Amino acid sequence: MAQENLPLLGRNYAEFQALVATEHYPRFTAKQLCDWLYKKHVATFDAMTNLSKTLRADLNENYALGRSAPLEVRTSRDGTRKYLFAANEGRTVETAMIPDADRRTLCVSSQVGCRMHCQFCATGQQPWGGNLSAAQILNQILSVDECDELSNLVFMGMGEPLDNTDELLRTLQVLTTEWGLAMSPRRITVSTVGVRKGLERFLKESEAHLAVSLHTPFEDERRELMPASGGLSLKDLFALLRTVNWRGQRKLSFEYVVLAGVNDSARHVEELIRILRPIPCLVNLISYHPHDGAEFSRPKDMVLVRMRDRLNNSGVHTTIRASRGMDIDAACGLLSTTYAQRS
Ligand code: SF4
Repeated sequence: MAQENLPLLGRNYAEFQALVATEHYPRFTAKQLCDWLYKKHVATFDAMTNLSKTLRADLNENYALGRSAPLEVRTSRDGTRKYLFAANEGRTVETAMIPDADRRTLCVSSQVGCRMHCQFCATGQQPWGGNLSAAQILNQILSVDECDELSNLVFMGMGEPLDNTDELLRTLQVLTTEWGLAMSPRRITVSTVGVRKGLERFLKESEAHLAVSLHTPFEDERRELMPASGGLSLKDLFALLRTVNWRGQRKLSFEYVVLAGVNDSARHVEELIRILRPIPCLVNLISYHPHDGAEFSRPKDMVLVRMRDRLNNSGVHTTIRASRGMDIDAACGLLSTTYAQRS
């Protein structure tokens, strides 16, 4: 029996053609499978009504489709929704839908836990649970209630996307290619702490926007806050970023989680200005969300306002990202952590 229980979700058109040839299905089945999975978003083989009954029975017997419904959904007072999906070995991952006026942004996870172990992050404190497959990543997008209304996708959920580059790039191919979901890469942003090999491939093989998790402009502090970022120094990271033209449609942003008394001083702001002013970019200041056992605290709102104004007045375009879904364990990794505790 061929590839029993392997999911079809996440395969590309050439792989469907190969599968169809191996299984001696009619040739046009490759296109039909892509259409049903990626354009019509069906969740079962039985819903693929233009395939013969025999073919559907064969698919049911030999393959999995790869879709699964969320285990839990929470809706915040501000409309933010957090979905919890089953992942590897009893673990879960989170997906957040953030509404803003007529936009619906989905924040997607790429790993179970995270090997970067950033000190301020709830996901980074979880035990490592492995990479998500492209099927598991795409399932988060296709199985939320708002799937057909999504305006933007951000890979900023649990995990470091460029520590799972093969599955990330496969996912991006399905999302942006004509036979797949045919989304514009300009609606997709991938975030990273800066993993050299993954970043080099992402910059070459994708046109999606890039968000770099910066969090401090000083190398020694960054290695302490984000131990795995030591793999690529700030100097090398910026050298790599300078190989791309960020003045075109592809955009670069920097995420900066503000930790009270840690990375919010005038010294930090002046160094940010020095290193960021030469690059066309946007800085997003994010107020830290404390969680149980965290050693950091949330800064006063005025601190963020002062940082933003100083950066903007110095030519570094900066916004403050509003805190959303505070009543539903909004910080990345919190809901899956509390779910594991409840289970
Ligand atoms: S902040 Fe991002 S990269 Fe760092 S531990 Fe959390 S999920 Fe991983």
